[in-house]
Amino acid sequence: TADQVRVGQRAHDLDRAHVFHSWQAQGPFDPMTILAAEGPYIWDGEGQKLLDMSSQLVNTNIGHQHPKVVAAIQEQAAKLCTIAPQHVNDARSEAARLITDRAPGDLDHVFFTNGGADANEHAIRMARLHTGRTKVLSAYRSYHGGTQLAVNATGDPRRFASDYSAEGIVHFMPAYQYRSYFGATTEAEETQRALQHLEDMITLEGPSNIAALILETVPGTAGIYGPPAGYLEGVRELTTRYGIIYIADEVMAGFGRTGRWFAVDHWDVTPDLITFAKGVNSGYVPLGGVVISDAIFETFRDRVYPGGLTYSGHPLACAAAVATINAMDDEGMIGNAERLGRDIIGPALHEMAQRHPSIGDVRGMGCFWAVELVKDRTTREPLAAYGGSSPEMNRVIAAMKSGGVLPFANFNRIHVVPPLNTPDADVRFGLKVLDEALSIADEYVI
Ligand code: PLP
Repeated sequence: TADQVRVGQRAHDLDRAHVFHSWQAQGPFDPMTILAAEGPYIWDGEGQKLLDMSSQLVNTNIGHQHPKVVAAIQEQAAKLCTIAPQHVNDARSEAARLITDRAPGDLDHVFFTNGGADANEHAIRMARLHTGRTKVLSAYRSYHGGTQLAVNATGDPRRFASDYSAEGIVHFMPAYQYRSYFGATTEAEETQRALQHLEDMITLEGPSNIAALILETVPGTAGIYGPPAGYLEGVRELTTRYGIIYIADEVMAGFGRTGRWFAVDHWDVTPDLITFAKGVNSGYVPLGGVVISDAIFETFRDRVYPGGLTYSGHPLACAAAVATINAMDDEGMIGNAERLGRDIIGPALHEMAQRHPSIGDVRGMGCFWAVELVKDRTTREPLAAYGGSSPEMNRVIAAMKSGGVLPFANFNRIHVVPPLNTPDADVRFGLKVLDEALSIADEYVI
């Protein structure tokens, strides 16, 4: 309504006057106002309805304003908004039960945090204390969060400005078949060479110094490049052999995004620690955590765990997690995500790749897909350089927005990451708008 647009305009003015934004030069930044959101849709500052094919920051896995989760937050707020972390709370206990029931193997305990970065910080701290070692292996082309240690562990350009006091963090080359660092031409070769590289890194860094290896099961913002067959099994085998704690970062890939509760379920791999956030409660209230194996739990049975947060296991966030997980179950959202990927998104993107020469690579699973755009399929020259945007990419993004879709874009990639319960017709609409926008990308193909 005109009233909402006026309220939005005032909010925008106040934002520019007083709000300091993440990852931005503050001056030129012109943030989008969101007046309202419902299911897979949002309404921008002009009242235009857009399909949220980004799920915001790939976290609204059940869409916006799910009535059961809104009600659960309201009920919890009426009952008990907050308690200190040392006390028992029923919402937290139930959230821990639901999460550990779904986690693989003997990951039977949860340490709750406020988000993904602090989950990774605590997972690394647990691994260091458990092993008595300090080094941490982490992949290039990864994202682990914005706090000091988590951003040091990160393998993307957001790390550069804070790349000091990164004691003990050592980066390795991940398996990434489309731009193989190992000159691999087949999936099997990529797996074998990437694992050989990882073992060389362990040998050269000294196995007895390495506390942990942290790896996104399916790297998200870095490009949704799923591991080649056998890679994660190899990572599990190497880390076990050398006594290294394997931390799977499932902050983005977890809670149904890939069409399984946890992405590791696709490969039948059980890490020692899994970190989560985002989808656990669709981001309705900030929540993250570490799911902990029994062996690591035992380290802290008689020994104090030196870490905590005022809001660890916050009742509102945990009540939202309980309602989200139950809604995902009751409404079959995990299976739906798998079906959307298998029957609609995957086939549509592969078909587009036949017609659009700007598509260099299509990859993904569930509701977690990336389209990598290039100027030249042979050289694979990206449509925006690593670490940056480009006028070409900006035109594609603008065309999607004016067509009614909010995309997730990073460097030369468009990610197709809708909520897991997006109706088929809306997913098809989003794909049609992407298809049309890609004609713009095609203009730049040499
Ligand atoms: N790990 C991964 C894989 C992520 O995608 C993110 C956020 O995008 C994080 C960690 C950090 O989570 P948060 O922003 O909640 O701290």
